[in-house]
Amino acid sequence: MELLYKSTRTSDITVTASEAVLKGLADDGGLFVPVEIPKLLTGLDALARMSYQETAYEVMKLFLTDYTEEELKHCINSAYDSKFDTEEIAPLAKADGAYYLELFHGSTIAFKDMALSILPHLMTTAAKKNQVDHEIVILTATSGDTGKAALAGFADVPGTKIIVFYPKDGVSPIQEKQMVTQKGDNTYVVGIHGNFDDAQNGVKAMFNDKALAALMDQAGYQFSSANSINIGRLVPQIVYYVYAYAKLFANGQITENEKINVVVPTGNFGNILAAYYAKQMGLPIDKLICASNENKVLFDFFMTGDYDRNREFVLTSSPSMDILISSNLERLIYKIAGADADKNRALMQELSTTGKYGITEEMRSELKDFYGNFATEEETAGVIRQIYEDTGYVIDPHTAVAAKVYKKYKADTHDETKAVIASTASPYKFTRSVMDAIDPKYDAMTDFELVDELEKISGVPVPQAIEDIRSAPVLHRDVCDADQMQNTVKNFLGIK
Ligand SMILES: *Cc1c(COP(=O)(O)O)cnc(C)c1O
Repeated sequence: MELLYKSTRTSDITVTASEAVLKGLADDGGLFVPVEIPKLLTGLDALARMSYQETAYEVMKLFLTDYTEEELKHCINSAYDSKFDTEEIAPLAKADGAYYLELFHGSTIAFKDMALSILPHLMTTAAKKNQVDHEIVILTATSGDTGKAALAGFADVPGTKIIVFYPKDGVSPIQEKQMVTQKGDNTYVVGIHGNFDDAQNGVKAMFNDKALAALMDQAGYQFSSANSINIGRLVPQIVYYVYAYAKLFANGQITENEKINVVVPTGNFGNILAAYYAKQMGLPIDKLICASNENKVLFDFFMTGDYDRNREFVLTSSPSMDILISSNLERLIYKIAGADADKNRALMQELSTTGKYGITEEMRSELKDFYGNFATEEETAGVIRQIYEDTGYVIDPHTAVAAKVYKKYKADTHDETKAVIASTASPYKFTRSVMDAIDPKYDAMTDFELVDELEKISGVPVPQAIEDIRSAPVLHRDVCDADQMQNTVKNFLGIK
């Protein structure tokens, strides 16, 4: 049966999965949601024997019903291959009384790879299915992680080009080096004189520019977005929760149908929403534990039912969670509003005009699956050090926020249900924060010296992604002013 998608803001228009992947955002500014969450009917014994790729097919075929078996398997096998440094793709590590689901074994060593290595294939397949003969131009503004993961995903994918804008002085040296050394004839990386908001606003302006769209059309191009609100990023993220559950069962760590808790370090609410969808599919998940850093909008929301972005933006050691508007939360709001697009649209309208909204008691009662808490910078560093000292396992600051919140959850509730913690980045990606947390003596070393020290203390070999950028030549040197972004794009594409 075909599963259709509709916007969270208009109830009467439906699109196919491949149309939703191509469009990214609905025309009314809403997000695409499946009209219902399909049930996972594959037996646990069968799942327990499956590879990551086979599990991915079992899950994704239920959501992307207009992709043929051949198309979907081709997308999956092109994504989850030797770009990952382990055949397990997403291995589990047991440490400190929890199971760490390591989502950082892809080419850019952060969890964004889990979805961005398959999105390009889902998109080019969708383009073929919908008779789009234009070349797809992915435009992205990045504060560091998404840009590199999107570049790595789209590099040399036929029928696509990707252009990434980043704040020239606003990303870490390792993040910048990762981007400017990106290979692939279809990749463009530009530093802008400005901050992340300038980059983001410039990109949004181009997406909304009708005159530019017409010029693009004439030249045989169309824009698309690799942003985390694309359903083509959400669906692949459901897979690893199913996979993790099946592996825990296969390894005798849980019994059939035993419930587990899931802990997710959260920014844009994409990763935890995927876990929520996995639960709706029937996976035995009990609590969804939402971990925030000092930008604790979501914690306050779960505590009070009021979402309020009017507050100071805090720069933390877990930058990928420094977010005040968690875009994917809209999908949850829509759901707890009883799939009522009018109600959801009114709340989102309030958010955009006043920066806040409150939900009803009735809606709050639908949030019982969730628990929210946050970790301060000091707590985050403290838990990195404690887990390293007690177990030898080294985690990155994002994962550490989750680890700390999980401890708070257990102290609050005395719930000892087994827990999977989503481990979203390799400690090698945030070497300085990690090493500083472990011992202040590392302060004087350079970033690459710290990489070698981390290898010594953790016993985990330096990932290829880090080795590559040590010696890789710089291939992108473009820099422009924020008001020249559109001209820069036109130059790349040869549009007058
Ligand atoms: C993007 C990211 C997150 C946040 O994930 P969301 O899906 O945006 O909630 C957490 N950790 C890392 C390392 C990330 O890159």
